[in-house]
Amino acid sequence: MSNKSAKRPRRGMMIVLSSPSGAGKSTLTRMLLKENDNMMMSVSATTRHARNGETEGIDYYFVSKDEFVDMIEKQEFLEHAKVFDHYYGTPRRPVENALNDGKDVIFDIDWQGAQQLTQAAGDDLVKIFILPPNMRELESRLKTRAQDSEAVIAKRMAKSESEISHWAEYDYVLVNDKLEDAIEELRTILAAEHNRRRRQLWLGPFVKQLIEGR
Ligand code: 5GP
Repeated sequence: MSNKSAKRPRRGMMIVLSSPSGAGKSTLTRMLLKENDNMMMSVSATTRHARNGETEGIDYYFVSKDEFVDMIEKQEFLEHAKVFDHYYGTPRRPVENALNDGKDVIFDIDWQGAQQLTQAAGDDLVKIFILPPNMRELESRLKTRAQDSEAVIAKRMAKSESEISHWAEYDYVLVNDKLEDAIEELRTILAAEHNRRRRQLWLGPFVKQLIEGR
């Protein structure tokens, strides 16, 4: 934490990045995390199996359907949804702790999750949707990733259009044509959002002292 932020405590924010699979969201998320010490990734729980290279506790918490249902019943999720054939959910506790500590939390969740978080966390939320430059590009990115079968890729492509139809529910919408441009736009958005009055917990006491100390 820098000196300035130590003296000027602020509430963290929840940054939702949504996009159809293959629009570059994971790359952008990784870049943001690398350049922001004060930002963490929310690790979701899911009932789907781990893909090659995915690590328990880093990419997801891989749980059984029974465990997932148990977590729902114990109200351990901030939001949860069925995406494709599996369940996905955001554990509540780590997010609340991070926000109270002035840390930002970034979420890789779909539009259903973004809608639920809007209900649960309105003011803390910044919602950003990432569009591919065109659908051909999206398909080729999905194929290059080559971790999913042809059938799964076809299903994801079919789903992309309905995901994109939710673009207007987001605060910001980026087209990820060139990665450098998209990351620059993200940096600008986050810099402005950081400065929102309601996140600056130090402002109230500061203004009080400003007036009373005249
Ligand atoms: P994948 O299986 O490719 O990792 O993710 C499939 C979809 O599920 C993506 O659109 C991703 O954003 C979404 N997703 C991942 N975690 C969550 C979560 O905790 N909640 C919701 N609502 N969606 C999620």
